[in-house]
Amino acid sequence: MRNITSDWIFPISSKPIKNGLVSVDESGEIIYVGEMDKTTDADLLEKYTGVICPGFVNTHCHLELSHLKERIPEKVGMTDFLFKVMLERERKEAEILSNIKDKEKEMIDNGIVAVVDIVNTDFTFAQKAKKNIYYYTFVEVFGFDPRLAYTRYTEGVELKWKFNEMKIGSGSLTPHATYSLSDDLFKMVMNDLPSPNNYTIHNQESWEEDEFFRTKSGGFTEFYDSLGIKTDHFTATGKSPLQSILRYFNREDKLLLVHNTFTNKEDIEFIKESDIDVWWSFCPKANLYITNKLPDFKIFKSEDDKITIGTDSLASNDTLSILEELKIIRREEKSIDFQNLLKWATLNGAKYLGVDEKFGSIVKGKHPGLNLIEDIDQDPVNLTQSSRVKVLC
Ligand SMILES: [Zn+2]
Repeated sequence: MRNITSDWIFPISSKPIKNGLVSVDESGEIIYVGEMDKTTDADLLEKYTGVICPGFVNTHCHLELSHLKERIPEKVGMTDFLFKVMLERERKEAEILSNIKDKEKEMIDNGIVAVVDIVNTDFTFAQKAKKNIYYYTFVEVFGFDPRLAYTRYTEGVELKWKFNEMKIGSGSLTPHATYSLSDDLFKMVMNDLPSPNNYTIHNQESWEEDEFFRTKSGGFTEFYDSLGIKTDHFTATGKSPLQSILRYFNREDKLLLVHNTFTNKEDIEFIKESDIDVWWSFCPKANLYITNKLPDFKIFKSEDDKITIGTDSLASNDTLSILEELKIIRREEKSIDFQNLLKWATLNGAKYLGVDEKFGSIVKGKHPGLNLIEDIDQDPVNLTQSSRVKVLC
C-alpha cells in the first residue's frame, strides 16, 4: 500500500483537503482519503508539492487521426480544415497504427484514464483491445446526400458490429455534426438503438454552420457545391444549428455537444426547456487551431455539472492533454473556480459515461487514478501557465 500526501488533495466529490492523505493499494483502489492520519509512519509517506486530483476523462478525441499532427495548417477556418483532413487522412496503415499506439501512451502519461473516442474506421480497435485506457467508442456517421443515407447507415452498423465482436468496451452510432447528415440519415442513426442512449455531436464549431442553418448560405453551401453534393433537399430553418437538430433526439437521451464555440444564451435556455439530458464538451485548443475563437465560457454557469473537457484530435491540436486544455480556459476566463475546472476534467465526464463508480473522484473503493499537478499558484490555489501533470498511479 502507498500513503501519499501533497499540499492539496482535491477528491472533487468533496472539499479540497490541505496537506491531506490518500492511501491506495497495488490495484490503485482508494483505501483512505482524508485528513493526515497521525499514526502513519513518516518514513513510509510519499510527499509531493502541488495538487493531487483524480485521473482525467477526455470526452472528445479521434485517436485514429493521430498521424495528422502538424499536417493541417492552423486557423484556416472550418470548411478549409475539413477539406485538408479529407486530403491528408489517407496514409500507410503501419504509420496510422504506430501513431495510435504512441498517442495513446501520450494520453496515459498526461493522466488520462477514460476517453470518448470517435471513429470512422477500425484502425484503433486492436489498440483499444489492450485496455490501457477505458474507451467509449462512437462510430460517427455522416452523409448529406439523402440518396446515400442507407449506404452510410449500413457502413456505420458494420463498423459497430466489428467493434462489438472484439468486446472492447461500450460503443454506439452517433451523428457526426449538425450540418453533415440528411434528414433520412439522422433518423436512421437515431433509430439504431432503443432510447435512452448516449450520443455525441460536433455542435456550433464555426460561424458558417450558423449561416447555413439560418439562411442556407455561406461556407457550407460552397463546401457542398465544390464536392458536387446537392443541397436542394435542405431548407434553412431560420434557427441556430443546435435548435434545428435537437428534435432528432429523444427525451432522456444523454447528448454530449462538442465545441459549442458559437452557442449563445438562447440556445442554453432552449435546451433547458427540452427534456434531453444535454452535456457539453469544450475543446479550446482545437477551437484556437481551427477558427481562432473560444466559446463564451461565462454563459455556461448554470451548466456547471454538465461541462466536460476534450482534446479533439491531433489534426487540430499539438498535444492530447486535458491539463493543457484547462490552462487555456484558465487564461481566458479567470472567474472559474479551480475545483470546478477540475470537476469538468474528471467527475463530469465520468458521469456522462456512467462510469463514475470507478472514475472521476477520489473516494474509498474507486480506482480513479491519481494525478499530481505541479507548479501551481498557492493562494488561492489554481493553475499557472507552466503547471504540469505527473501520474502517481
Ligand atoms: Zn471532433
